[in-house]
Amino acid sequence: MIPFIDLGAQYRLIQEEVEAAVLRVLRSGQYILGPEVDALEQALSDFVGVRHAVSCASGTDALVMALMAKGVGAGDAIITTPFTFMASAEAISLVGATPVFVDVDPHSFNIDPAVLSDVSQSLAKASDGAAPLPKLPLDRLRPRGIIAVDLFGLPADYAAIEQIAGEQELFVIEDAAQSFGATLGNRRAGALASIGATSFFPAKPLGCYGDGGALFTDDHDLAELFRSIRVHGQGADRYEHVRIGITGRLDALQAAILSIKLKILPEELEKRQRVAAAYKRAIAERGLPLETPHVPDGYTSAWAQYSVLAADASARSDYQSRLSAAGIPTGIYYPTPLHLQPAFASLGYSRGDFPVAESLSERIFSLPMHPYLNEDDVQSIMRAMSA
Ligand SMILES: *Cc1c(COP(=O)(O)O)cnc(C)c1O
Repeated sequence: MIPFIDLGAQYRLIQEEVEAAVLRVLRSGQYILGPEVDALEQALSDFVGVRHAVSCASGTDALVMALMAKGVGAGDAIITTPFTFMASAEAISLVGATPVFVDVDPHSFNIDPAVLSDVSQSLAKASDGAAPLPKLPLDRLRPRGIIAVDLFGLPADYAAIEQIAGEQELFVIEDAAQSFGATLGNRRAGALASIGATSFFPAKPLGCYGDGGALFTDDHDLAELFRSIRVHGQGADRYEHVRIGITGRLDALQAAILSIKLKILPEELEKRQRVAAAYKRAIAERGLPLETPHVPDGYTSAWAQYSVLAADASARSDYQSRLSAAGIPTGIYYPTPLHLQPAFASLGYSRGDFPVAESLSERIFSLPMHPYLNEDDVQSIMRAMSA
């Protein structure tokens, strides 16, 4: 039995240290924020290479807090991808703004800069009242920003995205929930836009034992805003509230656990690279008709998922049944693109609007991926797939 993500193997490695840290926190009497959280934030900002890391209660809260800090609300349009986890777009709706989707690149699975450029231009025209957006009644929305997602751990094309954002005066938020530890050039994921947001949900590349998240920025004023929003818009003292905020704090137990896991992350990232390379090699050697992930020059992926593309939906379901018969779990990220989710029906999108995202959702599936998979595991997964 090969687990999809083996948190147990990781736990056995760090068990003593984690259990001692948990006991230390329990005995300290300080359970929310405090020194454990301060130490984690320092270590996170060093690792990511930004001036400020502000931890929070989840990746979703990180995105919501980023949008709140930017003053985003009703009447604002935020551009994002329809091929991502719900939270990327949900955060936009939670602050009362409108998600505007743009299709993805068929190989990176991230926002396609050419489509982004078209949509941001027509959005700008529509907001001037000049021309409505094709298909959608989105005129009169104020285009404000872009949430780019680093899907499955691979950073989006920030050089192209930042250029388009600059031309249209849009801000960029990096949703690095899946890419913590990835790199683009000499920068880490989380530092690839003016605001980075990540999640420490247990299954992410850096996960805690509960919910958690963080924001990254070089901007001191933004970091102060995040810290205020995270505790109910706190002002100079605890019972002065200068703005509307949320309950967005990280607890000390999760911070203590994350500090330990962050220390082994570089080694785990190395191991993930080896697993991904082993998959690519084995799939090629066996001549399986699957498209494997392409990591462009200058990028490294954090390999939150190893997702491959079958020729069509029926080929995918054949692979999944063969693997499942051999006791090997697979996942589908994501079976329904966000523009077709019932929760976003009021946006007025329909099937056919984002052909790349729709085709990917029918053909994609993910193989087990974690740092503790070995070459034998990869070979038995390959045997099951070729059976
Ligand atoms: C997991 C995830 C989030 C949300 O993180 P939570 O900590 O679960 O709230 C946001 N965006 C993406 C792309 C994710 O994968």
